[in-house]
Amino acid sequence: MASSYGLHSGYFHPTLRKWQGGAGTTIAPHNLMLPIFVVDDEDGIEPISSMPGVLRMGINTMAVFLEPLVAKGLEAVLLFSVTNILKDDTGEIGAKPSNPTVGAIKRIKRDYPDLLVAVDVCLCPYTISGHCGVLKDDGFIDNGRSLIQIVKIAKSFVLAGADVIAPSDMMDGRIKAIKDMLQTLGCMNRVSVMSYSVKFASAFYGPFREAAHSAPAFGDRKRYQLPLASRGLAMRAAKRDEVEGADMLMVKPGLAYLDIVREVKDRHPELPMAIYQVSGEYAMLHHGAAAGAFDLKAIVMETLTAMRRSGADIIITYFTPQLLDWLMEK
Ligand SMILES: [Zn+2]
Repeated sequence: MASSYGLHSGYFHPTLRKWQGGAGTTIAPHNLMLPIFVVDDEDGIEPISSMPGVLRMGINTMAVFLEPLVAKGLEAVLLFSVTNILKDDTGEIGAKPSNPTVGAIKRIKRDYPDLLVAVDVCLCPYTISGHCGVLKDDGFIDNGRSLIQIVKIAKSFVLAGADVIAPSDMMDGRIKAIKDMLQTLGCMNRVSVMSYSVKFASAFYGPFREAAHSAPAFGDRKRYQLPLASRGLAMRAAKRDEVEGADMLMVKPGLAYLDIVREVKDRHPELPMAIYQVSGEYAMLHHGAAAGAFDLKAIVMETLTAMRRSGADIIITYFTPQLLDWLMEK
């Protein structure tokens, strides 16, 4: 069953059109999406010890950092907020202009207007609990209240100029609620929705939690992320998000879940498919190469080729800066 939100949101931008190109195992710059952690201090630059070579940046630092990458062919980024602005129980600050990601979207659209700007939308950067939704007294997520907050944040990113909204909490109703908001705003044909539709409760996320300061204050995310062994739920999650109107689907993490990628792609061949090569995968390959176990370029290219072979059109990877160099060497 297809959604009723129309098709134009899937191909209004040149990079989106390339993602509709279909199968293949080659790796080109348009297959890569670079995650960026945006901090409050506009001139900030913070190394992340668990992810050597990856930085948290303020918007000025980010703008300088992006210039050579854009020159080498970078086409897409995925922004994450890392803010220390006053948090609360409902993530109210996420939708405020002081959210550093709002400034980052505007800056990229000013300096690099052709770059496709995707933005992660979740409540965990903005809630005191660090959980991805508003919590009820019993500790369960209040889905209705969480949806209202998620949509408010997504709307502020859209108004700042985001091309792709990427809700990442794996919960019910996100895609439809964001699509309804886009319809109301009259932005249906200029904003895509990329769902983190199939997101497992993985140990590979460890380094990201340091990078984004996003570890929950208590408990874990197993009530909303998928059990590691689940295939049936993974397929239901992808189907749910296609029905709700997602323009693209995603499986996260990548390497340990390529069987799921292939199955989702086979069941949803109409939708571009993303893999998030997550922080733990980055750290594993980086440290393995640093320890002499294998050559970094060879192992990263092999891993990404396997991801393409399994059905990924888009690979979200912290190796994007190196990959742009390696692709130019070829
Ligand atoms: Zn979250």
